[in-house]
Amino acid sequence: MQNITVEDVDRQVSRGFPLMRFSPKIERAYLVDYAASRMKLVLGWAVVGTIVYNLMLFGDAALAGDVFKQLLFVRVCVFTPLVVVGLFFLHRHPTALCYDLLAIGVGVFSTLLPMTTVIFSHSHDLYAYQNANTAAFLFFIIVLRPRFFIGVIGLVLLSAIHLITMKLTGAFTSGVYLSIASLVLSTAVFLGAGAYYLEHTDRMNFLHRLKSSLLHQQLILKSEQDGLTGLLNRHSLSRISADLWSSDPPSTVCAILLDIDHFKTFNDLHGHIHGDECLRKVSQSISEMIGHDGHVFRFGGEEILVLIDNADEAAGLEIAEVIRAAIEALRIPHSGLGQDEVVTASLGVATVTTQSNTLEDLLKKADTALYHAKRSGRNRAFKAHDLASSTKQEAASRLPASFA
Ligand code: GH3
Ligand code: MG
Ligand code: MG
Repeated sequence: MQNITVEDVDRQVSRGFPLMRFSPKIERAYLVDYAASRMKLVLGWAVVGTIVYNLMLFGDAALAGDVFKQLLFVRVCVFTPLVVVGLFFLHRHPTALCYDLLAIGVGVFSTLLPMTTVIFSHSHDLYAYQNANTAAFLFFIIVLRPRFFIGVIGLVLLSAIHLITMKLTGAFTSGVYLSIASLVLSTAVFLGAGAYYLEHTDRMNFLHRLKSSLLHQQLILKSEQDGLTGLLNRHSLSRISADLWSSDPPSTVCAILLDIDHFKTFNDLHGHIHGDECLRKVSQSISEMIGHDGHVFRFGGEEILVLIDNADEAAGLEIAEVIRAAIEALRIPHSGLGQDEVVTASLGVATVTTQSNTLEDLLKKADTALYHAKRSGRNRAFKAHDLASSTKQEAASRLPASFA
């Protein structure tokens, strides 16, 4: 489902797919889904199909007894091993193409082997015998359900095998042969139409499932996103931290807690609208910088939290310093601080091992470091390790109630 959007799916639905083909990226996703759904059933159908196919030996004995030994050989010693080899091949290569090749192989060989054998029969019952081929047509289209165009190729081959071998027996008058031919061809045409309808329904259902799954993903994403900044919200912090804390083996998680300096004054002087704009710019800059290396949350009003997995405090401090410099480089004017002064932020960095510390411990440490960054003059990054334990306790009381 990579890179497929709800709009892509809607466009595909309105454009339709008369040639049984989606746009390339949706087609790729469909083929993965198609192969997976067929793989679930293929073993069961192979067992049932092969048993039924071999049970037809009773019919062979009754209707073409003079070539029974040959029929026994082709059913048990040729077709059955071929199915086993085909299944093994499919197990190694579970793709849509390999499945279709197996389906067409089963359809063609299940008809070709007995029909080429009965060419040598002198039985008077071949009219009844050849009727059993209808089962092969049905099994191929309705049970194996290959893709439409493979189905059409298979039906053409099956019909050709049937009609040529029946002709070669020389057992029928031209009138009987014509009636056999009309029955085979009409069966093939109706099954072909059915295959088209089945695949169309399959594909439409796939588009509906794809759309609802994309909408579901969007919903989850939205419920975990902060509306103003687009960063992750507090709600998602519980889920992501639970993931980080359940990693095996335990890891070292680094937190960078950032607070914009003198933001109240900024709001008072520049107005809330500009305050929001400033928050968005700062958030975007951090988000772009961290990318997929960590998680960026809007922790409070103008406080932003970055969590990075497997990073020690020294690495965290380096990242914090880069973030601090980047915010300063945004050069957002802050007239409350004087002429030519710009918006800055202070940052606290802390690291804990998930084995022996909780998220709460980590946030307390980062908050303490942030508090000291503020106290030391703002626009700087501090790491928790450098601080005395007494001062840590002092700052811990500033944490929001849910983390205290
Ligand atoms: P310090 O340097 O000590 O952090 O000073 P400060 O003024 O930034 O600190 P304080 O926590 O007192 O002020 C935070 C301000 O952030 C108060 C509030 O008006 C503002 N704020 C919080 N959320 C938003 C928001 O979504 N939009 C805007 N525009 N302002 C916000
Ligand atoms: Mg604040
Ligand atoms: Mg502030």
